[in-house]
Amino acid sequence: MTENTGNNREVTSKTNFIHQQVEKDLAEGKNNGRVLTRFPPEPNGYLHIGHAKSICLNFGIAQKYGGLTNLRFDDTNPEKEEDEYVRSIMEDVRWLGFDWGDRLYYASDFFQHLYDFALKLIREGKAYVDDQDAETISEQKGTPTRPGIESPYRSRSVEENLMLFEGMKNGDYDEGSRVLRAKIDMASPNMHMRDPILYRIMKTPHHRTGDKWVIYPLYDFAHGQCDYWEGITHSVCTLEFEVHRPLYDWFVDQLQDSDYRPRQIEFARLNLSYTIMSKRKLLELVKDGYVKGWDDPRMPTISGMRRRGYTPLSIRNFADRIGVTKVEGMSDVSLLEHSVREDLNKIARRVMGVLDPLKVVITNFPEGVTEDMEAINNPENPDDGTRMVPFTREIYIERDDFMEEPPSKFFRLAPGREVRLRYAYFVKCTEVVKDDSGRITEVHCTYDPASRGGNSPDGRKVKSTLHWVSATESIKAEVRLYDRLFTVEDPAGQKERDFKDFLNPESLVVLPECFIEPSVKEAEPLSHFQFERLGYFCVDPDSVAGKPVFNRTVPLKDAWSKEKGKSS
Ligand code: ATP
Ligand code: MG
Repeated sequence: MTENTGNNREVTSKTNFIHQQVEKDLAEGKNNGRVLTRFPPEPNGYLHIGHAKSICLNFGIAQKYGGLTNLRFDDTNPEKEEDEYVRSIMEDVRWLGFDWGDRLYYASDFFQHLYDFALKLIREGKAYVDDQDAETISEQKGTPTRPGIESPYRSRSVEENLMLFEGMKNGDYDEGSRVLRAKIDMASPNMHMRDPILYRIMKTPHHRTGDKWVIYPLYDFAHGQCDYWEGITHSVCTLEFEVHRPLYDWFVDQLQDSDYRPRQIEFARLNLSYTIMSKRKLLELVKDGYVKGWDDPRMPTISGMRRRGYTPLSIRNFADRIGVTKVEGMSDVSLLEHSVREDLNKIARRVMGVLDPLKVVITNFPEGVTEDMEAINNPENPDDGTRMVPFTREIYIERDDFMEEPPSKFFRLAPGREVRLRYAYFVKCTEVVKDDSGRITEVHCTYDPASRGGNSPDGRKVKSTLHWVSATESIKAEVRLYDRLFTVEDPAGQKERDFKDFLNPESLVVLPECFIEPSVKEAEPLSHFQFERLGYFCVDPDSVAGKPVFNRTVPLKDAWSKEKGKSS
């Protein structure tokens, strides 16, 4: 059984067209009732939210039908693949809450099988060594409406092909000088059937097989057979592979050793607004320093989202909400952020933190005294209990919670006005202190001792409740505010413009001097908090003792949709 390594807060998976196909196969007794799916990443980058959709789908099918899921690294291109990526992919799949048990595979495990299979195809006259270069071969491919041209090497004898292919394997020839091709049909209406390349010479060490091989199978020659040899029953992939399916079937047909066939089912990949999903482009952002790394909290990678404070459940819920279809579309990133808020609302402890501090002196509160005020940890979860927050004569409030000359709609603190300090007291503004430039440096207030806990002593009302922290007992922290990495919905789809032209210059704002209540002192990296009235935050691994760093995961409300609403 695939098991869920997350917690008990579960996704209730909707039924989709792939589930229906699996159910039909089960009803017909196919594969003796076995369900085995796989997640097949190429280890050439970190996983992103699109991969999360595929992971949730593949592991989800197995969970739903009592099956299993393999993790397979499609490592057929040593020029782009690295162990760092293998490790990060395993970490990310586990973190999302899925477990492949002992079913970890690599396409490179099958290199010998694939080589032997290639020999079989040559012996049967179904593959040949082509001495032309890649450019010539591609020119001869033709177009969907015009048949291709047969290679002059197509009718080589089996003996010559065997000898040349062995020479390729032994490293006798230069890269690019020869390839092995399948002999299928240069006039096929399906371009993928026009004598596809099976092997190329590449004198690059492989992250697992070292320099054992100098020829490597192409992805198309490896993928379907790996599915077959692993015994995959349902091979779920994205729509662009639909046209490759006849080729995969052709290969498995040539193996001719059983009736069993993995069933390939295609679905539409996830596209997300304000996001790019191409690993090549993400690598460019990392390599050229546009972001701080693959796990930069602005990246759509799973590691970036984890560091940003997204939870596995929120990602799984999102994957379930967007569903699985055959139609390409664009999902709204707000929906992902909604799933994140929904989960964090249930689990994040509430604390008070002030990001843009304005000092308030409570002139009738004794100096040197600390009063502990009881605060609720999470109103959504009474079991989470309460904590004590120190209240002192000097506190901080948010600078924008005070206005010297408030407009009529402003109900927060202003001269002569009384407000509630959450969990503490009613305070009334008596004086504004400014520096020479006219900037407000302090606000003086008096408090009503009878309003302890923030309760009205005599039924009198105040129009607003502010969060605050003690100026002397709180912790100084750096807070990093993140916004969307791109300013347009479809950064990769802008005509004649590079996606990097649309990077959001305000995607990261660092606030070096924020103050947070002392209860967060011992918080572990990645722990989640709601800063009351501000949003959800999590502890960044860059934190050091005495100097925590918080990432804003999401604001409390969706600022972007509010803006959209305003303009419409
Ligand atoms: P590339 O092949 O360009 O390196 P890729 O995104 O296809 O990039 P893979 O490592 O091959 O990367 O992907 C692993 C699996 O994840 C594949 O089965 C693929 O179909 C799936 N996948 C990749 N991107 C998405 C996406 N945006 N939505 C859904 N599934 C995806
Ligand atoms: Mg791919």
